Amino acid sequence: MLLNSPPAPEAVFDLCVVGAGPAGLSLALEAARGGLRVLIIEAGLARKAVPPATRFAATTMRVLDHRRHAPLSETTRTGIGGTSWLWGGRCVPFESIDYELRAHVTFSGWPICPSDLAPWQNRAAEYLDCGSADFQTEPMSGWQSQAVSTSQQERWSRRPQLAPHLGAQVIAHPTVSVLTGAVATDVRFNPAGTAVTQLRVRWAGTEVPLTARDYVLACGGLATTRLLLHVQRREPAFFGGSDGPLGRYYMGHLTGSIASISITPPELFTELDFRQEEDGTYVRRRFTLMREAQIRGHLLHTSFYLGNLPFRDARHGSPTLSAFFLALTSPLIGRCLAGAETRRRNAGRPVGGWGAHLQNIARRPRRLPAEVAAIVRLRYLSSPRRSVFVIHNDRGTYALRYHAEQVPNPHSRVRCNGRTGADGLPGVDIDLRYSDQDVESVLRAHQLLDAELASTGVGHLIYDHPEERRSEAIRQQAMDGYHQIGTTRMSADPSAGVVDPDCRVHGFSNLFVASSSVFPTAGEANPTFMTVALAVRLAHHLTDPARRRSQRSERPGSGWGSPAAWPAQ
Ligand SMILES: Cc1cc2nc3c(=O)[nH]c(=O)nc-3n(C[C@H](O)[C@H](O)[C@H](O)COP(=O)(O)OP(=O)(O)OC[C@H]3O[C@@H](n4cnc5c(N)ncnc54)[C@H](O)[C@@H]3O)c2cc1C
Repeated sequence: MLLNSPPAPEAVFDLCVVGAGPAGLSLALEAARGGLRVLIIEAGLARKAVPPATRFAATTMRVLDHRRHAPLSETTRTGIGGTSWLWGGRCVPFESIDYELRAHVTFSGWPICPSDLAPWQNRAAEYLDCGSADFQTEPMSGWQSQAVSTSQQERWSRRPQLAPHLGAQVIAHPTVSVLTGAVATDVRFNPAGTAVTQLRVRWAGTEVPLTARDYVLACGGLATTRLLLHVQRREPAFFGGSDGPLGRYYMGHLTGSIASISITPPELFTELDFRQEEDGTYVRRRFTLMREAQIRGHLLHTSFYLGNLPFRDARHGSPTLSAFFLALTSPLIGRCLAGAETRRRNAGRPVGGWGAHLQNIARRPRRLPAEVAAIVRLRYLSSPRRSVFVIHNDRGTYALRYHAEQVPNPHSRVRCNGRTGADGLPGVDIDLRYSDQDVESVLRAHQLLDAELASTGVGHLIYDHPEERRSEAIRQQAMDGYHQIGTTRMSADPSAGVVDPDCRVHGFSNLFVASSSVFPTAGEANPTFMTVALAVRLAHHLTDPARRRSQRSERPGSGWGSPAAWPAQ
Protein backbone atom coordinates (compact mmCIF):
# COMPACT_ATOMS: atom_id res chain seq x y z
CA MET A 1 0.00 0.00 0.00
CA LEU A 2 1.04 3.60 -0.47
CA LEU A 3 1.54 5.33 2.87
CA ASN A 4 0.32 8.90 3.39
CA SER A 5 2.84 9.48 6.16
CA PRO A 6 5.79 7.66 7.71
CA PRO A 7 4.94 4.50 9.62
CA ALA A 8 4.45 4.77 13.37
CA PRO A 9 7.63 4.10 15.41
CA GLU A 10 6.19 0.83 16.73
CA ALA A 11 5.52 -0.50 13.21
CA VAL A 12 7.59 -3.60 12.53
CA PHE A 13 9.22 -4.34 9.19
CA ASP A 14 11.44 -7.22 8.27
CA LEU A 15 13.02 -5.29 5.46
CA CYS A 16 13.49 -1.65 4.53
CA VAL A 17 14.38 -1.06 0.84
CA VAL A 18 15.67 2.38 -0.15
CA GLY A 19 14.75 3.15 -3.76
CA ALA A 20 11.92 1.94 -5.99
CA GLY A 21 13.75 1.50 -9.29
CA PRO A 22 14.02 -1.87 -11.08
CA ALA A 23 16.28 -3.27 -8.33
CA GLY A 24 14.24 -2.05 -5.35
CA LEU A 25 10.87 -3.05 -6.82
CA SER A 26 12.00 -6.55 -7.84
CA LEU A 27 13.69 -7.17 -4.51
CA ALA A 28 10.71 -5.90 -2.52
CA LEU A 29 8.17 -7.99 -4.41
CA GLU A 30 10.25 -11.15 -4.25
CA ALA A 31 10.87 -10.68 -0.52
CA ALA A 32 7.19 -9.97 0.13
CA ARG A 33 6.25 -13.10 -1.83
CA GLY A 34 8.67 -14.91 0.49
CA GLY A 35 6.70 -13.75 3.53
CA LEU A 36 8.54 -10.57 4.59
CA ARG A 37 6.96 -7.31 5.67
CA VAL A 38 8.64 -4.72 3.49
CA LEU A 39 8.89 -0.95 3.71
CA ILE A 40 10.05 0.90 0.59
CA ILE A 41 11.43 4.43 0.90
CA GLU A 42 11.36 6.32 -2.38
CA ALA A 43 12.68 9.85 -2.83
CA GLY A 44 10.40 10.61 -5.79
CA LEU A 45 6.69 10.68 -6.26
CA ALA A 46 4.28 7.81 -6.68
CA ARG A 47 3.71 7.85 -10.41
CA LYS A 48 5.53 10.75 -11.93
CA ALA A 49 9.13 10.55 -13.05
CA VAL A 50 11.04 13.66 -12.22
CA PRO A 51 14.48 14.59 -13.54
CA PRO A 52 16.66 16.12 -10.84
CA ALA A 53 16.54 19.93 -11.15
CA THR A 54 19.79 20.99 -12.83
CA ARG A 55 20.90 23.40 -10.10
CA PHE A 56 19.95 21.01 -7.31
CA ALA A 57 21.73 18.13 -9.04
CA ALA A 58 24.87 20.20 -9.54
CA THR A 59 25.21 20.69 -5.78
CA THR A 60 24.79 16.97 -5.09
CA MET A 61 26.91 15.37 -7.81
CA ARG A 62 29.40 17.27 -9.98
CA VAL A 63 30.53 15.71 -13.24
CA LEU A 64 34.24 16.52 -13.70
CA ASP A 65 34.47 15.74 -17.40
CA HIS A 66 31.29 16.33 -19.36
CA ARG A 67 32.77 14.61 -22.42
CA ARG A 68 32.94 11.34 -20.45
CA HIS A 69 29.79 11.44 -18.32
CA ALA A 70 26.27 12.47 -19.28
CA PRO A 71 24.52 15.01 -17.05
CA LEU A 72 22.40 13.57 -14.22
CA SER A 73 19.26 14.97 -15.82
CA GLU A 74 19.82 12.38 -18.58
CA THR A 75 20.92 9.47 -16.41
CA THR A 76 18.52 9.16 -13.47
CA ARG A 77 14.86 9.53 -12.64
CA THR A 78 13.15 9.47 -9.28
CA GLY A 79 9.70 8.09 -8.49
CA ILE A 80 8.26 4.59 -8.47
CA GLY A 81 10.01 2.82 -11.34
CA GLY A 82 13.18 4.93 -10.92
CA THR A 83 15.27 5.22 -14.05
CA SER A 84 13.09 2.68 -15.87
CA TRP A 85 11.17 5.79 -16.92
CA LEU A 86 14.18 6.53 -19.13
CA TRP A 87 15.81 3.24 -19.99
CA GLY A 88 15.57 1.52 -23.34
CA GLY A 89 14.47 -1.83 -21.89
CA ARG A 90 17.30 -3.78 -23.50
CA CYS A 91 18.02 -6.93 -21.51
CA VAL A 92 21.37 -8.63 -22.06
CA PRO A 93 22.91 -11.55 -20.14
CA PHE A 94 26.34 -11.79 -18.61
CA GLU A 95 28.34 -14.69 -20.05
CA SER A 96 30.63 -17.09 -18.17
CA ILE A 97 33.77 -15.19 -19.08
CA ASP A 98 32.40 -12.03 -17.49
CA TYR A 99 32.68 -13.66 -14.04
CA GLU A 100 36.19 -15.01 -14.61
CA LEU A 101 39.49 -13.86 -13.24
CA ARG A 102 41.29 -12.90 -16.47
CA ALA A 103 45.02 -12.26 -16.43
CA HIS A 104 44.70 -9.41 -18.94
CA VAL A 105 41.95 -7.62 -17.00
CA THR A 106 43.23 -6.26 -13.70
CA PHE A 107 40.79 -6.45 -10.79
CA SER A 108 38.62 -8.92 -12.71
CA GLY A 109 36.92 -11.96 -11.18
CA TRP A 110 33.59 -12.23 -9.41
CA PRO A 111 33.33 -14.16 -6.15
CA ILE A 112 30.20 -15.86 -7.55
CA CYS A 113 29.72 -17.87 -10.72
CA PRO A 114 26.98 -18.14 -13.38
CA SER A 115 25.27 -21.04 -11.61
CA ASP A 116 24.72 -18.77 -8.57
CA LEU A 117 22.60 -16.48 -10.73
CA ALA A 118 20.97 -19.02 -13.02
CA PRO A 119 18.05 -19.89 -10.70
CA TRP A 120 16.93 -16.24 -10.55
CA GLN A 121 17.09 -15.26 -14.20
CA ASN A 122 13.56 -16.35 -15.11
CA ARG A 123 12.17 -14.21 -12.32
CA ALA A 124 14.29 -11.28 -13.52
CA ALA A 125 12.84 -11.78 -17.01
CA GLU A 126 9.33 -11.83 -15.52
CA TYR A 127 9.84 -8.60 -13.55
CA LEU A 128 11.44 -6.82 -16.51
CA ASP A 129 8.88 -8.38 -18.86
CA CYS A 130 11.38 -9.39 -21.53
CA GLY A 131 9.67 -12.66 -22.47
CA SER A 132 12.16 -15.18 -21.11
CA ALA A 133 15.71 -15.59 -19.87
CA ASP A 134 16.77 -17.49 -22.98
CA PHE A 135 19.26 -15.30 -24.80
CA GLN A 136 20.59 -17.95 -27.19
CA THR A 137 19.62 -18.31 -30.83
CA GLU A 138 20.84 -20.24 -33.87
CA PRO A 139 23.99 -18.84 -35.52
CA MET A 140 23.38 -16.52 -38.48
CA SER A 141 23.05 -18.32 -41.85
CA GLY A 142 26.44 -19.36 -43.17
CA TRP A 143 28.26 -18.13 -40.07
CA GLN A 144 31.16 -20.32 -38.94
CA SER A 145 33.67 -18.77 -36.63
CA GLN A 146 35.75 -19.80 -33.62
CA ALA A 147 36.19 -16.16 -32.57
CA VAL A 148 32.94 -14.26 -33.00
CA SER A 149 29.53 -15.60 -32.08
CA THR A 150 26.24 -14.65 -33.70
CA SER A 151 24.20 -16.70 -31.24
CA GLN A 152 23.52 -14.15 -28.52
CA GLN A 153 20.36 -12.12 -28.73
CA GLU A 154 19.25 -9.18 -26.67
CA ARG A 155 15.65 -9.10 -25.48
CA TRP A 156 13.64 -5.89 -25.15
CA SER A 157 11.22 -5.35 -22.32
CA ARG A 158 7.61 -5.30 -23.54
CA ARG A 159 6.77 -2.69 -20.90
CA PRO A 160 10.00 -0.90 -20.07
CA GLN A 161 8.39 1.62 -17.73
CA LEU A 162 8.05 -0.52 -14.64
CA ALA A 163 5.77 1.67 -12.52
CA PRO A 164 2.47 0.73 -14.19
CA HIS A 165 2.99 -3.05 -13.88
CA LEU A 166 5.74 -4.03 -11.44
CA GLY A 167 5.23 -0.88 -9.35
CA ALA A 168 1.48 -1.52 -9.23
CA GLN A 169 2.01 -5.14 -8.10
CA VAL A 170 4.38 -3.99 -5.37
CA ILE A 171 1.95 -1.35 -4.10
CA ALA A 172 -0.93 -3.84 -4.18
CA HIS A 173 0.96 -6.49 -2.21
CA PRO A 174 -0.55 -6.83 1.28
CA THR A 175 2.81 -6.91 3.07
CA VAL A 176 4.49 -4.03 1.26
CA SER A 177 4.27 -0.40 2.41
CA VAL A 178 5.64 2.35 0.18
CA LEU A 179 6.54 5.81 1.41
CA THR A 180 7.18 8.26 -1.43
CA GLY A 181 8.71 11.73 -1.24
CA ALA A 182 11.02 10.27 1.42
CA VAL A 183 14.77 10.72 1.09
CA ALA A 184 17.10 8.48 3.08
CA THR A 185 19.67 10.87 4.52
CA ASP A 186 21.64 8.75 6.95
CA VAL A 187 22.22 5.27 8.33
CA ARG A 188 22.80 4.72 12.07
CA PHE A 189 24.68 1.78 13.59
CA ASN A 190 24.93 -0.03 16.92
CA PRO A 191 27.84 0.98 19.19
CA ALA A 192 29.89 -2.01 18.05
CA GLY A 193 29.53 -0.84 14.45
CA THR A 194 28.31 -4.22 13.27
CA ALA A 195 24.62 -3.67 12.49
CA VAL A 196 22.30 -0.92 11.30
CA THR A 197 19.84 0.19 13.94
CA GLN A 198 18.05 2.98 12.13
CA LEU A 199 17.59 4.75 8.85
CA ARG A 200 17.11 8.51 8.91
CA VAL A 201 14.64 9.76 6.35
CA ARG A 202 13.56 13.26 5.36
CA TRP A 203 9.86 13.42 4.66
CA ALA A 204 7.84 16.64 4.25
CA GLY A 205 10.65 18.69 5.76
CA THR A 206 11.04 16.57 8.90
CA GLU A 207 13.61 13.96 9.90
CA VAL A 208 12.05 10.59 10.66
CA PRO A 209 13.78 7.50 12.11
CA LEU A 210 12.77 4.19 10.54
CA THR A 211 13.69 0.72 11.73
CA ALA A 212 13.63 -2.74 10.21
CA ARG A 213 15.44 -6.02 10.62
CA ASP A 214 17.38 -5.73 7.36
CA TYR A 215 18.15 -2.73 5.14
CA VAL A 216 18.83 -2.74 1.41
CA LEU A 217 20.18 0.27 -0.45
CA ALA A 218 18.74 0.18 -3.97
CA CYS A 219 19.09 3.87 -4.79
CA GLY A 220 20.90 3.44 -8.12
CA GLY A 221 24.69 3.15 -8.48
CA LEU A 222 25.67 6.74 -7.79
CA ALA A 223 23.08 7.58 -5.11
CA THR A 224 23.85 4.39 -3.16
CA THR A 225 27.56 5.17 -3.24
CA ARG A 226 26.91 8.73 -2.14
CA LEU A 227 24.87 7.63 0.87
CA LEU A 228 27.65 5.28 1.97
CA LEU A 229 30.29 7.99 1.40
CA HIS A 230 28.20 10.20 3.66
CA VAL A 231 28.33 7.56 6.42
CA GLN A 232 32.05 7.07 5.82
CA ARG A 233 32.70 10.77 6.42
CA ARG A 234 31.51 10.22 9.99
CA GLU A 235 32.95 6.71 10.33
CA PRO A 236 36.17 6.70 8.27
CA ALA A 237 36.96 3.06 9.06
CA PHE A 238 33.73 1.75 7.52
CA PHE A 239 33.46 0.15 4.07
CA GLY A 240 37.16 -0.63 3.72
CA GLY A 241 38.34 2.75 5.03
CA SER A 242 38.45 6.15 3.40
CA ASP A 243 41.20 5.04 1.01
CA GLY A 244 39.43 1.76 0.32
CA PRO A 245 37.24 0.50 -2.49
CA LEU A 246 34.09 2.56 -1.85
CA GLY A 247 33.52 4.94 -4.77
CA ARG A 248 36.39 3.49 -6.82
CA TYR A 249 36.34 1.34 -9.98
CA TYR A 250 33.56 3.43 -11.48
CA MET A 251 32.66 1.94 -14.86
CA GLY A 252 30.16 2.18 -17.63
CA HIS A 253 30.70 0.97 -21.19
CA LEU A 254 32.30 2.23 -24.35
CA THR A 255 29.65 2.79 -26.97
CA GLY A 256 29.77 4.30 -30.40
CA SER A 257 30.56 3.59 -34.01
CA ILE A 258 33.77 3.91 -36.00
CA ALA A 259 32.78 1.84 -39.01
CA SER A 260 29.89 0.74 -41.12
CA ILE A 261 29.27 -2.85 -42.04
CA SER A 262 28.45 -3.98 -45.54
CA ILE A 263 26.41 -7.19 -45.53
CA THR A 264 26.38 -9.68 -48.40
CA PRO A 265 23.83 -10.56 -49.51
CA PRO A 266 21.87 -7.50 -48.31
CA GLU A 267 18.92 -9.78 -47.43
CA LEU A 268 20.96 -11.04 -44.44
CA PHE A 269 19.82 -7.81 -42.83
CA THR A 270 16.65 -9.57 -41.69
CA GLU A 271 18.76 -11.91 -39.53
CA LEU A 272 20.45 -8.97 -37.84
CA ASP A 273 17.38 -6.79 -37.50
CA PHE A 274 14.76 -6.87 -34.76
CA ARG A 275 12.48 -9.87 -34.73
CA GLN A 276 9.28 -10.28 -32.81
CA GLU A 277 8.68 -13.48 -30.86
CA GLU A 278 5.26 -15.05 -30.54
CA ASP A 279 4.63 -13.37 -27.19
CA GLY A 280 5.41 -9.99 -28.76
CA THR A 281 8.92 -9.57 -27.29
CA TYR A 282 11.41 -7.92 -29.63
CA VAL A 283 14.77 -9.64 -29.86
CA ARG A 284 17.88 -8.82 -31.87
CA ARG A 285 21.00 -10.79 -32.74
CA ARG A 286 24.41 -9.44 -31.75
CA PHE A 287 27.97 -10.25 -32.71
CA THR A 288 29.92 -11.07 -29.51
CA LEU A 289 33.51 -12.10 -28.92
CA MET A 290 33.92 -15.72 -27.88
CA ARG A 291 35.78 -16.57 -24.70
CA GLU A 292 38.87 -18.06 -26.39
CA ALA A 293 39.21 -15.07 -28.69
CA GLN A 294 39.10 -12.70 -25.73
CA ILE A 295 41.73 -14.66 -23.81
CA ARG A 296 43.97 -15.20 -26.84
CA GLY A 297 43.75 -11.60 -28.02
CA HIS A 298 43.74 -9.99 -24.56
CA LEU A 299 40.46 -8.39 -25.49
CA LEU A 300 37.70 -6.99 -23.32
CA HIS A 301 34.21 -8.30 -23.90
CA THR A 302 32.63 -6.47 -26.81
CA SER A 303 29.38 -6.75 -28.72
CA PHE A 304 28.31 -5.32 -32.06
CA TYR A 305 24.94 -4.71 -33.64
CA LEU A 306 23.51 -2.78 -36.54
CA GLY A 307 22.49 0.85 -36.41
CA ASN A 308 21.50 3.52 -38.88
CA LEU A 309 24.18 5.44 -40.68
CA PRO A 310 24.28 8.94 -39.14
CA PHE A 311 21.08 10.71 -40.23
CA ARG A 312 23.04 13.84 -41.16
CA ASP A 313 25.16 11.94 -43.69
CA ALA A 314 23.07 12.07 -46.86
CA ARG A 315 25.17 9.28 -48.41
CA HIS A 316 22.89 6.76 -46.67
CA GLY A 317 20.44 7.44 -49.50
CA SER A 318 17.44 6.86 -47.25
CA PRO A 319 14.51 9.29 -47.62
CA THR A 320 13.36 8.43 -44.10
CA LEU A 321 16.70 9.10 -42.42
CA SER A 322 17.00 12.38 -44.35
CA ALA A 323 13.51 13.41 -43.27
CA PHE A 324 14.37 12.58 -39.63
CA PHE A 325 17.56 14.58 -39.93
CA LEU A 326 15.64 17.62 -41.15
CA ALA A 327 13.14 17.19 -38.28
CA LEU A 328 15.95 16.94 -35.72
CA THR A 329 17.27 20.34 -36.77
CA SER A 330 14.23 21.86 -35.03
CA PRO A 331 15.01 21.59 -31.27
CA LEU A 332 11.32 21.37 -30.39
CA ILE A 333 10.42 18.60 -32.86
CA GLY A 334 13.79 16.91 -32.24
CA ARG A 335 13.11 16.58 -28.50
CA CYS A 336 9.70 15.00 -29.20
CA LEU A 337 11.15 12.55 -31.72
CA ALA A 338 14.34 11.31 -30.14
CA GLY A 339 16.29 10.96 -26.91
CA ALA A 340 19.33 13.08 -26.11
CA GLU A 341 21.84 10.46 -27.25
CA THR A 342 20.13 9.94 -30.63
CA ARG A 343 20.02 13.70 -31.15
CA ARG A 344 23.66 14.07 -30.24
CA ARG A 345 24.66 11.34 -32.67
CA ASN A 346 22.53 12.34 -35.63
CA ALA A 347 21.91 16.07 -35.67
CA GLY A 348 24.52 18.69 -36.62
CA ARG A 349 25.97 19.90 -39.90
CA PRO A 350 24.68 17.91 -42.87
CA VAL A 351 27.25 15.75 -44.67
CA GLY A 352 26.70 16.10 -48.41
CA GLY A 353 24.72 19.33 -48.00
CA TRP A 354 21.06 20.13 -47.38
CA GLY A 355 20.28 19.60 -51.07
CA ALA A 356 21.41 15.97 -50.92
CA HIS A 357 18.92 15.27 -48.12
CA LEU A 358 16.10 16.87 -50.13
CA GLN A 359 17.13 14.76 -53.13
CA ASN A 360 16.99 11.57 -51.03
CA ILE A 361 13.41 12.42 -50.17
CA ALA A 362 12.44 13.43 -53.71
CA ARG A 363 14.04 10.35 -55.32
CA ARG A 364 11.84 7.81 -53.46
CA PRO A 365 8.63 9.68 -52.78
CA ARG A 366 6.62 6.55 -51.88
CA ARG A 367 9.09 4.93 -49.54
CA LEU A 368 9.10 7.79 -47.03
CA PRO A 369 5.39 7.67 -46.10
CA ALA A 370 5.41 3.85 -46.00
CA GLU A 371 8.41 3.68 -43.65
CA VAL A 372 7.19 6.55 -41.47
CA ALA A 373 3.75 4.94 -41.19
CA ALA A 374 5.34 1.65 -40.10
CA ILE A 375 7.45 3.43 -37.49
CA VAL A 376 4.48 5.37 -36.13
CA ARG A 377 2.42 2.19 -35.95
CA LEU A 378 5.13 0.14 -34.19
CA ARG A 379 6.29 2.92 -31.93
CA TYR A 380 3.03 4.53 -30.85
CA LEU A 381 0.05 2.36 -31.81
CA SER A 382 1.21 -1.19 -31.11
CA SER A 383 1.64 -3.18 -27.97
CA PRO A 384 4.40 -3.83 -27.12
CA ARG A 385 5.87 -0.66 -28.52
CA ARG A 386 9.16 -0.70 -30.30
CA SER A 387 11.60 2.10 -29.52
CA VAL A 388 14.55 1.43 -31.85
CA PHE A 389 14.46 1.12 -35.64
CA VAL A 390 17.16 0.29 -38.12
CA ILE A 391 15.99 1.47 -41.52
CA HIS A 392 16.62 -1.06 -44.27
CA ASN A 393 18.65 0.19 -47.23
CA ASP A 394 19.31 -1.33 -50.65
CA ARG A 395 23.08 -1.07 -50.32
CA GLY A 396 23.14 -3.39 -47.33
CA THR A 397 25.33 -0.91 -45.46
CA TYR A 398 24.66 0.01 -41.84
CA ALA A 399 26.44 1.68 -39.00
CA LEU A 400 28.18 -0.91 -36.86
CA ARG A 401 27.62 0.01 -33.23
CA TYR A 402 29.79 -1.37 -30.45
CA HIS A 403 29.13 -1.82 -26.75
CA ALA A 404 32.27 -2.73 -24.86
CA GLU A 405 33.60 -3.52 -21.42
CA GLN A 406 36.10 -1.30 -19.70
CA VAL A 407 38.82 -2.41 -17.29
CA PRO A 408 38.11 -1.73 -13.59
CA ASN A 409 40.27 1.24 -12.63
CA PRO A 410 40.61 2.38 -9.00
CA HIS A 411 41.29 5.94 -10.18
CA SER A 412 37.98 6.13 -12.01
CA ARG A 413 35.89 7.18 -9.05
CA VAL A 414 33.20 9.04 -7.18
CA ARG A 415 34.35 10.92 -4.09
CA CYS A 416 33.26 13.60 -1.64
CA ASN A 417 34.26 17.07 -2.81
CA GLY A 418 34.13 18.77 0.58
CA ARG A 419 30.87 20.57 -0.15
CA THR A 420 27.37 19.84 1.06
CA GLY A 421 24.60 19.23 -1.44
CA ALA A 422 21.27 21.04 -1.30
CA ASP A 423 19.82 17.82 0.17
CA GLY A 424 22.21 17.84 3.14
CA LEU A 425 24.29 14.89 1.90
CA PRO A 426 27.88 15.46 0.82
CA GLY A 427 28.54 16.79 -2.64
CA VAL A 428 30.45 14.26 -4.74
CA ASP A 429 32.68 14.57 -7.77
CA ILE A 430 32.18 12.06 -10.56
CA ASP A 431 35.40 11.23 -12.36
CA LEU A 432 34.68 8.50 -14.91
CA ARG A 433 37.84 7.54 -16.81
CA TYR A 434 38.56 5.41 -19.84
CA SER A 435 41.99 3.82 -20.31
CA ASP A 436 44.16 3.18 -23.37
CA GLN A 437 43.49 -0.53 -22.89
CA ASP A 438 39.72 0.10 -23.13
CA VAL A 439 40.16 2.01 -26.38
CA GLU A 440 42.67 -0.33 -28.00
CA SER A 441 40.51 -3.33 -27.20
CA VAL A 442 37.55 -1.83 -29.07
CA LEU A 443 39.78 -1.20 -32.06
CA ARG A 444 41.17 -4.73 -32.11
CA ALA A 445 37.70 -6.22 -31.64
CA HIS A 446 36.72 -4.47 -34.89
CA GLN A 447 39.73 -5.97 -36.67
CA LEU A 448 38.76 -9.41 -35.43
CA LEU A 449 35.16 -9.03 -36.56
CA ASP A 450 36.28 -7.73 -39.96
CA ALA A 451 38.53 -10.77 -40.43
CA GLU A 452 35.71 -13.15 -39.48
CA LEU A 453 33.27 -11.39 -41.84
CA ALA A 454 35.78 -11.76 -44.65
CA SER A 455 36.50 -15.42 -43.95
CA THR A 456 32.82 -16.32 -43.80
CA GLY A 457 32.14 -14.20 -46.89
CA VAL A 458 29.18 -12.30 -45.43
CA GLY A 459 30.55 -8.81 -45.47
CA HIS A 460 33.24 -6.38 -44.47
CA LEU A 461 33.78 -3.22 -42.47
CA ILE A 462 34.24 0.24 -43.92
CA TYR A 463 36.01 2.43 -41.40
CA ASP A 464 34.96 6.05 -40.98
CA HIS A 465 38.53 7.22 -40.36
CA PRO A 466 42.06 6.36 -41.49
CA GLU A 467 43.82 3.90 -39.19
CA GLU A 468 45.77 6.52 -37.25
CA ARG A 469 42.59 8.36 -36.24
CA ARG A 470 40.46 5.42 -35.15
CA SER A 471 41.62 5.22 -31.52
CA GLU A 472 40.92 8.91 -31.13
CA ALA A 473 37.43 8.44 -32.57
CA ILE A 474 36.72 5.70 -30.00
CA ARG A 475 38.06 7.87 -27.20
CA GLN A 476 35.95 10.83 -28.28
CA GLN A 477 32.76 8.76 -28.18
CA ALA A 478 33.54 7.14 -24.83
CA MET A 479 30.85 8.44 -22.50
CA ASP A 480 28.52 6.90 -19.96
CA GLY A 481 26.76 7.60 -16.69
CA TYR A 482 23.71 5.67 -17.87
CA HIS A 483 25.25 2.44 -16.56
CA GLN A 484 26.56 3.03 -13.03
CA ILE A 485 28.85 0.14 -12.23
CA GLY A 486 31.58 -0.84 -9.77
CA THR A 487 31.60 1.73 -6.95
CA THR A 488 30.44 -0.71 -4.22
CA ARG A 489 32.10 -3.74 -5.77
CA MET A 490 31.55 -7.31 -4.64
CA SER A 491 34.48 -9.23 -3.16
CA ALA A 492 35.15 -12.21 -0.93
CA ASP A 493 37.97 -10.28 0.76
CA PRO A 494 36.62 -7.34 2.82
CA SER A 495 39.61 -5.15 1.96
CA ALA A 496 39.01 -5.53 -1.78
CA GLY A 497 35.34 -4.64 -2.02
CA VAL A 498 32.32 -3.15 -0.29
CA VAL A 499 29.87 -6.06 -0.38
CA ASP A 500 30.32 -9.80 0.05
CA PRO A 501 29.05 -12.46 -2.39
CA ASP A 502 25.56 -12.15 -0.83
CA CYS A 503 25.57 -8.37 -1.48
CA ARG A 504 25.88 -7.78 2.27
CA VAL A 505 28.07 -4.81 3.15
CA HIS A 506 31.27 -6.25 4.64
CA GLY A 507 31.29 -5.96 8.42
CA PHE A 508 27.55 -5.36 8.87
CA SER A 509 25.06 -8.10 9.55
CA ASN A 510 21.95 -6.41 8.13
CA LEU A 511 23.00 -3.87 5.49
CA PHE A 512 22.87 -4.85 1.79
CA VAL A 513 23.22 -3.23 -1.64
CA ALA A 514 21.05 -4.03 -4.68
CA SER A 515 22.55 -2.18 -7.61
CA SER A 516 24.87 -2.50 -10.59
CA SER A 517 27.39 -0.73 -8.34
CA VAL A 518 28.19 -4.18 -6.87
CA PHE A 519 29.46 -5.56 -10.21
CA PRO A 520 33.26 -6.10 -10.03
CA THR A 521 33.44 -5.98 -13.84
CA ALA A 522 31.00 -4.62 -16.39
CA GLY A 523 30.99 -7.22 -19.18
CA GLU A 524 29.61 -6.03 -22.48
CA ALA A 525 26.03 -6.34 -21.22
CA ASN A 526 23.68 -3.53 -20.34
CA PRO A 527 23.42 -3.93 -16.58
CA THR A 528 19.76 -3.99 -15.56
CA PHE A 529 18.94 -7.62 -16.25
CA MET A 530 21.91 -8.71 -14.12
CA THR A 531 21.04 -6.13 -11.44
CA VAL A 532 17.52 -7.51 -11.14
CA ALA A 533 18.71 -11.15 -11.12
CA LEU A 534 21.06 -10.23 -8.25
CA ALA A 535 18.23 -8.41 -6.45
CA VAL A 536 16.00 -11.48 -6.70
CA ARG A 537 18.84 -13.65 -5.41
CA LEU A 538 19.31 -11.24 -2.51
CA ALA A 539 15.60 -11.41 -1.70
CA HIS A 540 15.91 -15.19 -1.39
CA HIS A 541 18.93 -14.80 0.86
CA LEU A 542 16.93 -12.45 3.10
CA THR A 543 13.94 -14.77 3.26
CA ASP A 544 16.06 -17.86 3.88
CA PRO A 545 14.55 -19.54 6.96
CA ALA A 546 17.96 -20.56 8.37
CA ARG A 547 19.21 -16.98 8.22
CA ARG A 548 16.05 -15.68 9.85
CA ARG A 549 16.26 -18.25 12.65
CA SER A 550 19.85 -17.30 13.40
CA GLN A 551 18.87 -13.61 13.44
CA ARG A 552 16.18 -14.30 16.02
CA SER A 553 18.65 -16.05 18.33
CA GLU A 554 21.18 -13.22 17.90
CA ARG A 555 18.70 -10.44 18.52
CA PRO A 556 20.83 -7.63 19.97
CA GLY A 557 17.98 -5.57 21.42
CA SER A 558 19.14 -2.65 19.36
CA GLY A 559 15.93 -1.37 17.89
CA TRP A 560 15.24 -3.96 15.20
CA GLY A 561 11.59 -4.23 16.12
CA SER A 562 10.02 -7.16 17.89
CA PRO A 563 10.95 -10.60 16.51
CA ALA A 564 7.71 -11.89 18.01
CA ALA A 565 5.89 -9.87 15.39
CA TRP A 566 7.84 -11.30 12.43
CA PRO A 567 5.73 -13.53 10.24
CA ALA A 568 6.11 -17.21 11.06
CA GLN A 569 8.07 -19.33 8.57
C1 LIG B 1 18.68 6.77 -21.07
C2 LIG B 1 18.97 5.46 -20.40
C3 LIG B 1 18.86 4.28 -21.11
C4 LIG B 1 19.13 3.06 -20.49
N1 LIG B 1 18.97 1.92 -21.20
C5 LIG B 1 19.22 0.74 -20.61
C6 LIG B 1 18.98 -0.47 -21.31
O1 LIG B 1 18.48 -0.47 -22.43
N2 LIG B 1 19.31 -1.63 -20.68
C7 LIG B 1 19.81 -1.67 -19.42
O2 LIG B 1 20.11 -2.76 -18.94
N3 LIG B 1 19.99 -0.54 -18.73
C8 LIG B 1 19.70 0.66 -19.28
N4 LIG B 1 19.85 1.81 -18.56
C9 LIG B 1 20.28 1.70 -17.15
C10 LIG B 1 19.08 1.41 -16.26
O3 LIG B 1 18.16 2.46 -16.32
C11 LIG B 1 19.58 1.23 -14.83
O4 LIG B 1 20.52 0.17 -14.82
C12 LIG B 1 18.46 0.87 -13.88
O5 LIG B 1 17.45 1.83 -13.87
C13 LIG B 1 19.05 0.77 -12.46
O6 LIG B 1 18.02 0.39 -11.59
P1 LIG B 1 18.14 0.72 -10.05
O7 LIG B 1 16.88 0.28 -9.42
O8 LIG B 1 19.41 0.19 -9.53
O9 LIG B 1 18.28 2.34 -9.97
P2 LIG B 1 17.28 3.47 -10.44
O10 LIG B 1 16.44 3.00 -11.54
O11 LIG B 1 18.09 4.69 -10.67
O12 LIG B 1 16.32 3.69 -9.18
C14 LIG B 1 16.82 4.20 -7.96
C15 LIG B 1 15.65 4.77 -7.16
O13 LIG B 1 16.16 5.15 -5.88
C16 LIG B 1 15.62 6.39 -5.51
N5 LIG B 1 16.55 7.04 -4.58
C17 LIG B 1 17.80 7.49 -4.85
N6 LIG B 1 18.34 8.00 -3.72
C18 LIG B 1 17.43 7.86 -2.75
C19 LIG B 1 17.41 8.20 -1.37
N7 LIG B 1 18.47 8.76 -0.74
N8 LIG B 1 16.29 7.94 -0.64
C20 LIG B 1 15.21 7.35 -1.23
N9 LIG B 1 15.18 7.01 -2.54
C21 LIG B 1 16.28 7.25 -3.29
C22 LIG B 1 15.48 7.14 -6.82
O14 LIG B 1 14.49 8.15 -6.68
C23 LIG B 1 15.08 6.03 -7.81
O15 LIG B 1 13.68 5.91 -7.89
C24 LIG B 1 19.56 3.03 -19.14
C25 LIG B 1 19.67 4.23 -18.42
C26 LIG B 1 19.37 5.43 -19.04
C27 LIG B 1 19.49 6.69 -18.24
